[in-house]
Amino acid sequence: MPNPAPPFDNTYARDLTGFYEPCRPDTVPAPELLFFNRSLANELRLGLDDQDAAALAAMFSGNVLPEGAQPIAQAYAGHQFGQFNPQLGDGRALLIGEVIDRHGLRRDIAFKGSGRTPFSRRGDGKAAVGPMLREVLIGEAMHALGIPTTRALAVVSTGEPVYRERTLPGAVLTRVAASHLRVGTFQFFAEHTTAEQVRQLADYAIARHYPELVGADDRYLGFLRAVAERQAALIAQWLHVGFIHGVMNTDNMAISGETIDFGPCAFMEAYDPRAVFSSIDERGRYAYEAQPHIARWNLARLAETLLPLIADNEGRAIEQATEVLDAFMARHQHYWLAGLRVKLGLHGQVPNGDSVDTALGESWLDLLHAQQVDFTLAWRRLADATAGDEAPLRALFSGQPGLDRWLERWRVRWAAEDAGADSAKERAKAMRRVNPWLIPRNHRVEEALAAASDEGNLAPFEELLKALQRPFDENPALSRYAEPASGEFMAEFRTFCGT
Ligand code: AMP
Ligand code: MG
Repeated sequence: MPNPAPPFDNTYARDLTGFYEPCRPDTVPAPELLFFNRSLANELRLGLDDQDAAALAAMFSGNVLPEGAQPIAQAYAGHQFGQFNPQLGDGRALLIGEVIDRHGLRRDIAFKGSGRTPFSRRGDGKAAVGPMLREVLIGEAMHALGIPTTRALAVVSTGEPVYRERTLPGAVLTRVAASHLRVGTFQFFAEHTTAEQVRQLADYAIARHYPELVGADDRYLGFLRAVAERQAALIAQWLHVGFIHGVMNTDNMAISGETIDFGPCAFMEAYDPRAVFSSIDERGRYAYEAQPHIARWNLARLAETLLPLIADNEGRAIEQATEVLDAFMARHQHYWLAGLRVKLGLHGQVPNGDSVDTALGESWLDLLHAQQVDFTLAWRRLADATAGDEAPLRALFSGQPGLDRWLERWRVRWAAEDAGADSAKERAKAMRRVNPWLIPRNHRVEEALAAASDEGNLAPFEELLKALQRPFDENPALSRYAEPASGEFMAEFRTFCGT
């Protein structure tokens, strides 16, 4: 039986006329499928099982659009490194359509690198193989780590060169997102149109992402609070795996609460709260520890766009929005602390638990920082220590007395909670479920991308991608992927936006 056509239902194109420009993807000369995420395609019920690589390449290059697709370039604005740019938009992306997945969730399917659009400004609308495969690796790693994220469905090389600092092979990425609504989408309509259009956008976003608010009297304030809540939780998850987004401009913050726009992002190796890898982030605006503060700053920009909807009286609206923003750091801290406890193997509560546990976590991080210990391995080896094997943990630290003092505090904290029948082994197991053994190590990512982009050799990319699917399972056969990069590599390591 033939597969059904992808069941597109394009609400954004249908309901938000005026919020986008219709636009066709470029035709490409020699599409070749580099990556296809079959399990995601099945989750989306795309019905592509009987399509061969050539047919998939034709579809995911944009050469042959599936029935029901309705390509549009979405309008948005944004603060980039603090500077407002009123006119950004999909300059090299196109929303192809929306489908309802197996779980009943609406998902966007979009191209990146499919050519110029009315929003391209001086850009070529294109993307290169390396950065698009990088988005696959990091995005799929985030997904495997249990962190809300957009995902990669396919990457097709185009057979066309793209011109950057050097000539690179071109590619189109197909990305799947809960939606592509950004803080910057609200900024665009607040800047250029009437409050009525902002209301239309907000009602759309509420219906799509926060349906529990539909019809509520204070739904716009509720919307702001709900978006803030998801960001508070998301950023805590980032911090707990050492993720640095790298370019948290307001156009790169999703209303849905997913991680979006993997440009110069990277995972930290040796713990350093000021870590920043992006070549364009000279002042560390988007450093690791700055991320919650930046999220709050971005939410303030969202709040500004919603003020006319929150209350007729501007003073009252500001007051109410400010209350939400003022609560943000405490909400973030709440999620951070909850995550920290699980990472530390703590379950129960003790008197003054919040301050005791925050201090315990912070002194652990101070210790990692002072001794430049690998963030990921330190947590993982702490789980081993819980199970009775301290040697691997000790091997990471140069100064043993500091570690001894901290371990003593940790054990005292442990003993203070009523752990019931929870054996040390059970605790270690629980810790290993949240402290990954494997993250996308920067040197391994670079190595895989260089092989794919420079030599057309996809094997290292495929092996690394496979390894990253099970980040919590320690597997000696994969230990080369778990080892940190050398200090020299990390000292030189810079990430690029890939534009
Ligand atoms: P990004 O840094 O990828 O979040 O992109 C910021 C803005 O620049 C967005 O409006 C993009 O669509 C646009 N942009 C990035 N690269 C290109 C390109 N090669 N051609 C056209 N527009 C681009
Ligand atoms: Mg972006």
